[in-house]
Amino acid sequence: MIPGPAIVYKCPNCGNFCQRGSLTSGNTGGARFYSDGSMQAVMLPEFPAITKCKKCEKFYWLDNDNKAGSYGGGWFYDSRKDKVTPKQWLEADLARLLPVEELQEAVDAKAYGDSSENEMYLRKRLWWGLNDKADRRDAEPLTKSITVQYAENCHGLIALLLVEGEEMSDGRRLMVAELCRNMEMFDVCEEVLRTIKGPELREIVDALIGECKRKNRYVVLLDR
Ligand SMILES: [Zn+2]
Repeated sequence: MIPGPAIVYKCPNCGNFCQRGSLTSGNTGGARFYSDGSMQAVMLPEFPAITKCKKCEKFYWLDNDNKAGSYGGGWFYDSRKDKVTPKQWLEADLARLLPVEELQEAVDAKAYGDSSENEMYLRKRLWWGLNDKADRRDAEPLTKSITVQYAENCHGLIALLLVEGEEMSDGRRLMVAELCRNMEMFDVCEEVLRTIKGPELREIVDALIGECKRKNRYVVLLDR
């Protein structure tokens, strides 16, 4: 894992800076993969794509439009010896990944604007975050019932995945199937799973059909 430069962003609302790290190289060695498509990888940390400004509390995307610049990178960079980079960049707050409550807030506030890609980013992480809480960390799920928020988000994701007039890829089919299973629509889930023909997904498809037969709606760890 080689650290890349720190990237500095400027809040478009109030001008406050934040920064996030980057990676020149990383890998998924030892990573855990889950049936909802999420992954926990020690050697491949995730950097946020959106943040909530610490000063004005508005959401904004960490993209090229809001990028102020970058500095450092590599193992030997020492910010204490850096006399070139503006001090307010060096001291900018670290952007953190939004916790579940803020992901929900960002979805409710339509922080994705008219970008379906950004809507997908937020809804997917909200789904993963809610699955985390409900299904993964404890043997006994904390939330046994499907909340209105959870279902609304799942339906929002399905709507994004079903693009009219477009043939769905196997990856998208798998996600639609998993969303249905998470909402206890086991028959629909199985039906969608059976339309996946790619041999590389055979094992996952078979495992999830097994979960449907067991009437298990919770996310499972995949053997890969
Ligand atoms: Zn701000």
